[in-house]
Amino acid sequence: MNSYISRVLEETKKKNANEPEYIQAVEEVLTSIEPVIEKHKEYEKLGILERMVEPERIITFRVSWVDDSGKVQVNRAFRVQYSSLIGPYKGGLRLHPTVNQSIMKFLGFEQIFKNALTGLPIGGGKGGSDFDPKGKSDREIMAFCQAFMTELQRHIGQDVDVPAGDIGTGAREIGYMFGQFKRIRNAYEGGVLTGKGLSYGGSLARTEATGFGLSYFMRELLKANNNQSFKGKTVTISGSGNVAIYACQKVKEMGAKVVAMSDSNGCVYDEKGIDLDLVKEIKEVKRGRIKDYLEKHRDAKYMERTSDDSPIWTIKTDIALPCATQNEVTLNSAKKLVENGVIAVGEGANMPCTKEATEYFLEKGVLVGPAKAANAGGVATSAIEMSQNSMRYYYSFDEVDKKLDCIMTNIFKSCQNSAKEYGYENNYVAGANIAAFQKLAEAMVAQGVV
Ligand code: NDP
Repeated sequence: MNSYISRVLEETKKKNANEPEYIQAVEEVLTSIEPVIEKHKEYEKLGILERMVEPERIITFRVSWVDDSGKVQVNRAFRVQYSSLIGPYKGGLRLHPTVNQSIMKFLGFEQIFKNALTGLPIGGGKGGSDFDPKGKSDREIMAFCQAFMTELQRHIGQDVDVPAGDIGTGAREIGYMFGQFKRIRNAYEGGVLTGKGLSYGGSLARTEATGFGLSYFMRELLKANNNQSFKGKTVTISGSGNVAIYACQKVKEMGAKVVAMSDSNGCVYDEKGIDLDLVKEIKEVKRGRIKDYLEKHRDAKYMERTSDDSPIWTIKTDIALPCATQNEVTLNSAKKLVENGVIAVGEGANMPCTKEATEYFLEKGVLVGPAKAANAGGVATSAIEMSQNSMRYYYSFDEVDKKLDCIMTNIFKSCQNSAKEYGYENNYVAGANIAAFQKLAEAMVAQGVV
């Protein structure tokens, strides 16, 4: 390995020893940009990598709120303002009990590369809290969101930092946060949050954007490899949240048969094809569990999750779309998928494949659509939401969807071109890292030592 990369990697591991997800994300990028570092010897003197692995700012704060029984609850919250090189910090807010600094930093780090790939003027950030929205009443969700925003509002703004949704943060939570922001600041700063409701500044197609974008990216990837397509292919999709649902909708429209979806408890397998209207009703309306699917489709199968290896990856499929969470595809799961003949994996979630799983797929010739590129449709459409807010104007659904399709197609092309240029043909994981890194490094050099 190049000595500059290995030194920075060692230092990062030492400095962040208790942050495994962060180290994993940094290692994945640094080990794939070697040819760029070899070509630009000046980067070492300029400390490009050292600056890239240190967030500009991390804010940690306490969130106190009152539950329905009158008891005070306390959560820990974060905002990682990772990089403002190419635009205001931009990235979602995750509400999940597993949230910690390592996960926030890994997501912030991934976000700067993803946002660079979109070609739009957005920097990178991420935030969230270890608050668990599951089982909370509407009033409790509002109380938490208001308390969370009471502190967060000091640090954000439409030209400073623009948060959005992520796991556990959907339109309801963004609505409560936006209301509180507006109340405290006494200004209608529409572009301060994205993923807003359509009645007060949201963009059409933002809800669908990450899942649709993933499908467009994978369509291009399949086309570039022997002119394949989704038509007639079997697809399994983990998760049953925002990304999973709209990926399912779009790949079905493209002629695929989705046979399985999941949540953190287990997965349903419906060999006739998943009834997406029912999944939407269970998840978007009733906020229920995927197991409830069997109440209507008794011939479908339910497999409970009992270990780190999700049962969904034991199902035979042509294309796997992990759309739940990080490290959900282990090496064991990757081996099972390959044994069952998988041809492509499209990462809808952030870093859903472990490093070993990704390496195994690439070694076995499975096509991998890496998260930074494949799930960039969400943030790209958030940037389109910001531009509509600035113009005080709305695009139609079709206009946004067409822009999204165009952006995803361009992202695929830049991954493909960078991979080719640096001798990694068909390795879109390396292609995405190189294309994004080059853009960020160039901006860093241009802006001087800051
Ligand atoms: P949602 O909260 O809407 O859905 C998340 C889904 O993943 C749920 O089905 C959830 O199941 C499941 N899940 C969550 N945590 C775990 C876990 N630890 N183990 C197994 N399953 C789990 O989130 P999104 O769909 O918005 O996000 C999914 C992924 O996509 C995340 O990695 C996110 O960072 C990424 N992403 C999202 C974007 C967006 O626009 N929303 C943009 C780009 C990336 P359960 O209900 O049981 O918790």
